[in-house]
Amino acid sequence: SNQTRRWQEMDARHHVHPFSDQAALAKKGARVITHAEGVYLYDSEGHKIIDGMAGLWCVNVGYGRSELAEAGYKALKELPYYNTFFQTTNPYTAELGERLAEVTPDGLDRFFFANSGSEANDSMVKIIRYYWSLQGKPEKKVFISRKQAYHGVTMTAASLSGISAMHPQAGLPLPNHAHIDFPYWYGMGGDMDPNEFGVHIAMKLEEKILEIGAENVAAFVAEPVQGAGGLIIPPDSYWPVIQEICHKYDILLHADEVICGFGRTGNWFGSHTYGIVPDTMAMAKGMTSGYQPLSAVALGPRVGDALHNSGEEWSHGFTYSGHPVASAVALANLDVLQKDKLVEKAGGETGEHFLKHLHALADHPIVGETRGVGLLGAIELVKDKKTRERFEGDTGGLCRDHCFENDLIMRAIGNTMVLSPPLSITKAELDELFTLARKALDATAKDLGAM
Ligand code: PMP
Repeated sequence: SNQTRRWQEMDARHHVHPFSDQAALAKKGARVITHAEGVYLYDSEGHKIIDGMAGLWCVNVGYGRSELAEAGYKALKELPYYNTFFQTTNPYTAELGERLAEVTPDGLDRFFFANSGSEANDSMVKIIRYYWSLQGKPEKKVFISRKQAYHGVTMTAASLSGISAMHPQAGLPLPNHAHIDFPYWYGMGGDMDPNEFGVHIAMKLEEKILEIGAENVAAFVAEPVQGAGGLIIPPDSYWPVIQEICHKYDILLHADEVICGFGRTGNWFGSHTYGIVPDTMAMAKGMTSGYQPLSAVALGPRVGDALHNSGEEWSHGFTYSGHPVASAVALANLDVLQKDKLVEKAGGETGEHFLKHLHALADHPIVGETRGVGLLGAIELVKDKKTRERFEGDTGGLCRDHCFENDLIMRAIGNTMVLSPPLSITKAELDELFTLARKALDATAKDLGAM
């Protein structure tokens, strides 16, 4: 329509969106999403699109929850903003800390609030370096993270990220960052048994620590399930060995729960699912189901007590740290997750229905592996199921476009299709989602001459 074209032209003239395929954007213009309800998005041309990605792994409670909107509106009227610097707080942020401490892993009960996942991870680096300096070990400043990981876009969060394409143009990674292999069994495990492979990859952490010298290493940083790199679900053997190594060399462990947090893997946090006891943890996205920008670094007793007991004023905080409106929305989000038992359902009936559909796609001629946990799923596309050889070209992009044309949003990461629908999705909506997914896989296979 004319209105859509007007929006697209304004967007093309003024909006910088580097995370888009620039050629496709120039050719077709941005799709204008105007409103949303439940698990459906609506665009300016009247299409109803099923959101298989919950926005960008965010919208755990689904769209259009009036409880969240009303909580935000009430706070906007009562206290639209005040800072939490200089010995002040507000009722919403005060209560949010209390409520978060009820659902985080044991002992992670102090929170530094920020506005995005990038800021949370960036702040974590500063907090941990500060911690080590309080311990009289300021030389412990190297952060080890994983190849293909994504931890955000600020200079530090991008340095933690192991996606090599994020690095060269901006002179990254910064000094004091190192990256090790990630536990991608399907792509790298060859003939190895998955658990044997998990141990093998976890031992890379020890190798890297010995190479750098434990006296120089501050922390290991990872997501419980790595979202970037194609949704890498670790073999059971992986996390126990990682934690043993961290203890052995006195290296802190930071869990990036920006995607895994708030029910995504079937428990409140991915750390619960994998038995991880992190020293610090980042959360964002699902914290407000994306309704407001809000994030936090959770601190366990070791780092939390050291900071608390130092008695020092320490200059770190964002204008919007502990934002009252965002905090109010986060509280309402926790209420909905609890009232509707969405976390239990992600680990129970909804998750089971999702995984049953996901694994049923394994019989498709171009699907090499399906992997999933809770309401996170990946479908890896291959040319040859036996040798795991991939198609040439951007197979994932092709499949993503077929999904998009059929009004389904599935994300492509390389040759892997990724799903993370709202936790509120019903069984009937999951049936619909997977019917569309199979249709898109068929269309992709036909394009590739594989069907
Ligand atoms: N960590 C992870 C695991 C993420 O997926 C993301 C965002 N996709 C971030 C950090 C960065 O969060 P933000 O975009 O809010 O800065």
